[in-house]
Formats: sequence, C-alpha cells, structure tokens
Amino acid sequence: MTRVVVLGAGVVGLASAYLLAREGHSVTVLEGEPASGMATSRSNGGQLSYNYVAPFAGPGVIGKVPGWLLDPDGPLRFRPDFTWGQISWLIGFLRACNADTALRTTAALLRLAYLSRDTLREVVAREALDFAYARSGKLVVYSDSTGFEGARRQMAAQAALGSEQHALSAAECLRIEPSLAFIASRLVGGIHTPGEDAGDCHLFCQGLERLLRGSNFDVRFHFSSRVTQLLTAGGRVVGAATRDGVHEGDAFILAFGNGARALAAPLAVDVPVQPLKGYSLTVPISGAAPSISITDTKAKIVYARLGGSLRVAGMADVVGNDPRFDNRRLDTLLRQAQATFPEASDWRDLQPWTGLRPATPTGLPILGPTPRWPNLYLNLGQGALGFTLAMGSAAIIADLLAGRPAPIPMDGLSA
Ligand SMILES: Cc1cc2nc3c(=O)[nH]c(=O)nc-3n(C[C@H](O)[C@H](O)[C@H](O)COP(=O)(O)OP(=O)(O)OC[C@H]3O[C@@H](n4cnc5c(N)ncnc54)[C@H](O)[C@@H]3O)c2cc1C
Repeated sequence: MTRVVVLGAGVVGLASAYLLAREGHSVTVLEGEPASGMATSRSNGGQLSYNYVAPFAGPGVIGKVPGWLLDPDGPLRFRPDFTWGQISWLIGFLRACNADTALRTTAALLRLAYLSRDTLREVVAREALDFAYARSGKLVVYSDSTGFEGARRQMAAQAALGSEQHALSAAECLRIEPSLAFIASRLVGGIHTPGEDAGDCHLFCQGLERLLRGSNFDVRFHFSSRVTQLLTAGGRVVGAATRDGVHEGDAFILAFGNGARALAAPLAVDVPVQPLKGYSLTVPISGAAPSISITDTKAKIVYARLGGSLRVAGMADVVGNDPRFDNRRLDTLLRQAQATFPEASDWRDLQPWTGLRPATPTGLPILGPTPRWPNLYLNLGQGALGFTLAMGSAAIIADLLAGRPAPIPMDGLSA
C-alpha cells in the first residue's frame, strides 16, 4: 500500500483518487476550494466527446484567427498579459499548427479518449453514480460547405483510427434532431457520432467524492486547504505544505489544473499550461430542445441535455489567469443559443458560469512521473477535454504508479 497525496479535487484529481483508492492505496485529497469540482470542473459543456479530440492547434487555424479576433461575437479573444508563460505557450501553439503535429496529436488523444470511455463506462456500470449521464450521441452541424468537406476528410482519417461516424445531409440532421428546425435554412450537413456520451461534470465530481467517503476506501479529504509548497528531500517529494500543516506521502499526483504551474516552478518542473477562458449557461428545458448533443460549428457552441436542463458552452479567451465574468461574452452566448433553439426554454432562468480550461499548446495532457522527482506524477493539461479524458488519464497514472506498463502508448503524453 502506498500513501498517495492527490493534489486537486477537480474531475481529474477525483478520477485519479478513485482508481488509486480502488487499488487499495491510502489516499489524501488536498483542495483549496471548500468542496469538490468548484473550479473548471463545475459547469463545463457536459460532453464526453471521445471522437472530437482534434486539437485547437491545427493546420489552417492561424489564417482564421484574425477573422475570429475581429468579430465581436467571435469564439476567440486575446489579451496579452506579457508573461513568459503566455508568450512561450503561444510560440508552442503556433509551432503545433501544422498537419503532421495535428494528426499525431489526434491519434494520441483518440487512444486516450477511448481508454477514458471504456474506463468511465465500467465505472458507471459498477457504481451508483447519478450525474445525468446519457449515451446520447453527438451531431456536429455545419453551415458552410468548405467546413463540411473538411469534416468529411477528418472523418475518413479518423475511421482508420477507430471512430464510428456518419456524414448526414441537412435533411437527415433534422430527422435525427428535429429541434434544429430554426436553423434548418443555414445547415449544409452534419457529422453524427452515435458513441458519444454526456453528463454533468460537477455531479460526477460530487458522486466520486461520495463513493470515496464510503467504507470501502481509505481516503481523506482536506478542503479549503491551499497548498503553498511541495517539500523535497533526497530527490523525492516528501510533503505538501498547507496552512494547517504538512501532508506527507510516498507519491504525489499533481492535478491542480491551472494552479499547477506556480507550485511546480520552484521544483524546476515546467508545466506549460495556460488558462483558456470559456463560458456556459444552463437553462431549464421547457420546450423543443435537442436530445442529442449538438456542436454548432458556425458559432462554435456546444449544447448538451443534462436531465431537465440544457447546457450551452463556448468561447476561448486567451486573457491570462482572469476568472472575471465578461457580460458581453455571456450575452453573445445567450443570443446565439436563443436563435438556435428558441423554444428550448423561456431563457429567463439562466445559470451563467465561466471557467478556465487548463490547456497545453498542443492540446496533449501531461501524464506520469517527472524525470527529476520520480514520485511526483503530473496529471494536467486536459484543456477543453478534461471531463472526457479524466478517467483515461487516471487509469494511466494508476498503472504507472503500480509499476505496470501504461495501458496505451505514451507518445507525446509523458511528463
Ligand atoms: C466553458 C467550458 C466548457 C467545457 N466543456 C467541456 C466538455 O464539454 N467536455 C470536456 O471533456 N471538458 C470540457 N471542458 C474542460 C474541462 O472542464 C476541464 O478540462 C476540466 O474541468 C479540468 O479539470 P481539472 O481537474 O484539471 O481542473 P479543475 O477542475 O480546475 O481542478 C483543479 C483543482 O485544483 C485546485 N487547486 C489549484 N491550485 C491549488 C492549490 N495551490 N492548493 C489547493 N488546491 C488547488 C482548484 O481549486 C481546483 O479545484 C470545458 C471547460 C470550459 C471552461
């Protein structure tokens, strides 16, 4: 039995805590917030998007960025904060914007996403977890033929990597999701992926915590417990310092998302993660709302039905570590959602939210022990896909920590 300290009670930390506890380790979870899943894992898009993992850094993205930035309703914002962290991240991002890197990244992310899907479905079958989970499938709709043609090529490339997807005409899109009727005139087609899931990430976090507090596991939670320093001795990390004292352990899993960089820097461990700010709103469903998860590529907005609610999410703002709400961004999201699904809700009872995706330049997370501190494991940088990739990332950490080979090739994923 190993004493494992899991740093972070977001979805990534909790998934690790769960699989590690299941293996019989003694687990301590340290979290600065007063409860589980209160930061980026709170109200994300709810998509378990195993087949839509192609990185943001792709070929052709650089050419589109100026148009997005000039459009006040565009999906992207940029405000330089002139830190080396942001500058080096942008350089890494620009370097990754080519076809070869994007294809390698997509292949690695698909392997991780399939591992995640299989692990999550095993957990769902085994445990009583109520998180509005639905095997709803996903439909990505296009309003321009160039975009749709590109998506068909991507679909063909991904078929060789195991994705099961179908290209649909606009009429077929409407047949499987009639609530798209209000944007029917602009649709040129869609890609349907029946094997996608959806769920409420915050409820999932709370459910995992509840399971871990059960008598089967040796787990302790310390909330409102900000970690200020990792202590080292003899080439190993030996403790995590908080206001209330030092938590010792044999192994440390760093799953602090955007908080990881500051903590790892004094240990000379570079964590190339930058916050990518996004917004969501949740409304009660009172009329024709999608049953299937929808991505509207024109507006770059995702929709998921979570029980009796519709979750709408989008935007990617590179504005540094700034958690404040920009009401104009929220208004844009609301306007576009109302125009797309006007009857889904009366759109008055809104639960708005903003969160910071912990993103690496390439879109690949960083998983496993650091070369310098072999008992410090990174589990970070899942970016726009943290809910989707959390269980697979946790499965890798659990295997590596037990001295077993990783369950998938680690190309590009290792710390
Ligand atoms: C608008 C939006 C939509 C999204 N939609 C989706 C989606 O549809 N599907 C999907 O898969 N992903 C989605 N994501 C991404 C996903 O939400 C994130 O990747 C995921 O939540 C990251 O989880 P995490 O555990 O790494 O980080 P977090 O949830 O942020 O957890 C890290 C935890 O560490 C704690 N912490 C940090 N530093 C310290 C410290 N020094 N001491 C103590 N505690 C500390 C924080 O308080 C936090 O609770 C979306 C994100 C956004 C913003």
